[in-house]
Amino acid sequence: MKIQNKIALIFTILSGAIIMALSVFIYIFGSESISSSFFHRLEVRSDIVGHAAAEENKSKTSMYYDFKEKHLGDLPFEKHRVIWSGDSVKTRHFKKKLQLPESFYKDIVAGTPTRFFRGDTSYVGLGISKGDQKLVIISSAVDLFGLAEMDNLKNLLLIGFLISMIFVFTFGKLFSAQVFNPIRRIIRNVKGINAHNLHQRLVNDGSEDEVADLSSTFNDMLDRLEITFEIQNNFVSNASHEFRTPLTVISGEAQLGLAVSGLPPAARESFNTILHEAEKLEHLTSSMLSLAQTGFDGKKEQWGILRIDELILSVKEAADMIMPANHIKIDFDNLPDDDEKLSLNGNETLLKAALTNIVLNSCKYSDNKPVDIQISANQTNIIVEVIDHGIGIPDKEIGQIFVPFFRASNTVKYKGYGIGLPLANNIIRMHQGSIQVLSQVGEGTRFSIQLPIRYQ
Ligand code: ADP
Repeated sequence: MKIQNKIALIFTILSGAIIMALSVFIYIFGSESISSSFFHRLEVRSDIVGHAAAEENKSKTSMYYDFKEKHLGDLPFEKHRVIWSGDSVKTRHFKKKLQLPESFYKDIVAGTPTRFFRGDTSYVGLGISKGDQKLVIISSAVDLFGLAEMDNLKNLLLIGFLISMIFVFTFGKLFSAQVFNPIRRIIRNVKGINAHNLHQRLVNDGSEDEVADLSSTFNDMLDRLEITFEIQNNFVSNASHEFRTPLTVISGEAQLGLAVSGLPPAARESFNTILHEAEKLEHLTSSMLSLAQTGFDGKKEQWGILRIDELILSVKEAADMIMPANHIKIDFDNLPDDDEKLSLNGNETLLKAALTNIVLNSCKYSDNKPVDIQISANQTNIIVEVIDHGIGIPDKEIGQIFVPFFRASNTVKYKGYGIGLPLANNIIRMHQGSIQVLSQVGEGTRFSIQLPIRYQ
């Protein structure tokens, strides 16, 4: 889950818990106060009825009832049971009928007014003394108004809770999106920076918050990276340049030596070896120079619109010149009908060098067995597949073939320097493409190169 959504969720859960706790508190407090006021009203009525029952004077009794009728009125389902102490028949009857807990009666006997609530009904119990006689009044009523109020309050709190949750989640999402906007901008910018545009920097809007700190830390890191790349690039370029002159001199001297007539065979062989090794070194240094240039500085190169079919034909021409005995076959069967899907944006010289390297490897490591080049395209990429039936690459070493100077353990009898593939990989990556390799020792190798289609 994205941090943005996590924050919105945590925000919602926290607020939800607080609102829920507050709602429960309001509900409990509300219901306590409504029921306590109802109990009080019932107690007042119960007391009047008790005193009326205890009064022997009939006119006083009716005065109590008149007063109750006039000033208090009846509560819904109001009922009073008056029991004289010692009336065991009535006591048993009401105990059975009302099913109130034993503690309720014990409290009344102890002289404490007592309250009990069950279902919708509220019960109160009082004891009144009349001379040495005692009477107990058990009254009950239903607080219809209070119950409706509580129901309303419950619905109100529930709806309020749900609405506030929707609000909190929506605002939480908007808020976290707002907070993460600068981070998303940084991610977008950093994604756009690679070895070929290392000079680019993240824009700082002048604020002094943590995001600005992050941007400037990235920029510092890019500064250091650029310097390191520059140093490495310059070193390789300078070293390659410096090697060239002495190598040309060595080759020249060896050729002069070979031109001398009557040269003893041993000396001729030595000169030939010197010439051969010097040429190898010259090839190596120029490959290293290309590697350094393509790896770090694509912006110097000339880019244009290219057609992949034309590019592959020129690769074949180059391969024919370097290895005339090759058996390269170009398969145009899967070529897309839409011409637009054949064109790409790139540097012709570099792409040709990269693809020629891969194709020549296939010829070399298969001892000129047939090599198939297939061209196709999907929605976004042009795909060039180079398939050979050569020696293959050992499983454990396949991950290292793009490392400069790496050569697989089964290539001893083949000439090479381990520079061609890293160079090709750099060039393809510079064109926002990718290379995948599938290989089986003794069966062959399939290189699949993907390059983005150029859209208008
Ligand atoms: P090299 O000059 O050794 O060919 P590359 O950089 O072109 O250097 O290739 C690196 C290594 O990848 C090779 O040494 C070889 O082990 C392996 N490799 C590349 N292409 C093939 C292929 N078509 N078949 C088998 N192995 C290959």
